[in-house]
Amino acid sequence: MYKLISEDLGARYGKLKTRHATIETPFFMPIATKGTAKQISPQELEELGSEALIANAFVLHLKPGLDIIRKFKGIHKFMKWNKVVFTDSGGFQILSKSFLHKADDKGVYFKNPFDGSKKFFTPENVIKIEEEIGADVAMALDFVPHYGNDKNYIADCTRITHLWAERCVKAHEDKKQLLFGICQGGTFKDLREKSSKFINDLDFDGVALGGLGIGEGRELMNEAVKLSVKNIDKNKTRYLMGVGSPEDIIDGINLGVDCFDSRFPTMNARHGGIFTNEGKIDITKTVFRDDERPLDENCKCYTCKRFSRAFLHHIYRTYEPIRDRYGGIHNLYFIQQLIKKSRKAIKSNEFKDFRKEFLSSYKVNKNKKTFFTYQ
Ligand SMILES: [Zn+2]
Repeated sequence: MYKLISEDLGARYGKLKTRHATIETPFFMPIATKGTAKQISPQELEELGSEALIANAFVLHLKPGLDIIRKFKGIHKFMKWNKVVFTDSGGFQILSKSFLHKADDKGVYFKNPFDGSKKFFTPENVIKIEEEIGADVAMALDFVPHYGNDKNYIADCTRITHLWAERCVKAHEDKKQLLFGICQGGTFKDLREKSSKFINDLDFDGVALGGLGIGEGRELMNEAVKLSVKNIDKNKTRYLMGVGSPEDIIDGINLGVDCFDSRFPTMNARHGGIFTNEGKIDITKTVFRDDERPLDENCKCYTCKRFSRAFLHHIYRTYEPIRDRYGGIHNLYFIQQLIKKSRKAIKSNEFKDFRKEFLSSYKVNKNKKTFFTYQ
């Protein structure tokens, strides 16, 4: 259950109570598709300030399979994570071009990526899987269109998402597990408006905004967030899926979003993209080869306390595998700190100034196409 505690011109501070723990909002979830974050251990994730992770029900039910997870009495004990676990239904993966065979009102027909067999998934199947996995928060099955599809196609995906959402609510029996719906509609104002109202009116504990951060750009995304959020009840958690760059997170919080998840911090780290208070830098650039400073002078993460930019540049340039960990630890810490400071600023009614200050020093490269934003 979500409890709104304070508001600061639309930005919200609150608490989300789940069966495992109560967490402060806004919050950011690292991705643990198969039950683990890439390169970062559960203990480290906790130390970086993570209170929740998101795993993928679709992937986990294929491998290791529900029999194994059942044996461990749920995903928490299996993956050794005592805090909150969300499970995404897997709509995004199933509907990616490599898996999808066909989707209609009944459900999704897809190819099992592990053995090539044909599978059929209904919204009811998805809910049962998420209940068996034992997530604290289960996500409804949605139909995610790809960015750039025409309006008729996106309208049809939205229509199917609504049908499936109703069936997910009906099928959900585990009352201790929270269930979130997902609205779609691309960046079409009327579709977003309609979808956010429809999903909000169903008996969900939270409403996620799906199908954003996939190449539409910051302006269109923020417009869609604004349109959706105003239709969501104040006592429901608002979750912007797959969005995780510092500038998008701070804008999302400003528009009333409570929850984020994304691969963005770790994916960037893998390619040398490092967040600093002055903006994102590419540590592989020659300019850093003799730089004695840490990645960010204000950062207290393990990587910054220990290593220089020059050393990190060196291990990136020589493709040492541990570079992903060092970069990932820093980027995740940076995001968790940004969220923590945002919560503090909202509580003291200073979020507007905090955001302004952050964005004035954090340089966003407008010409560069944002990549790796989605999951
Ligand atoms: Zn750092």
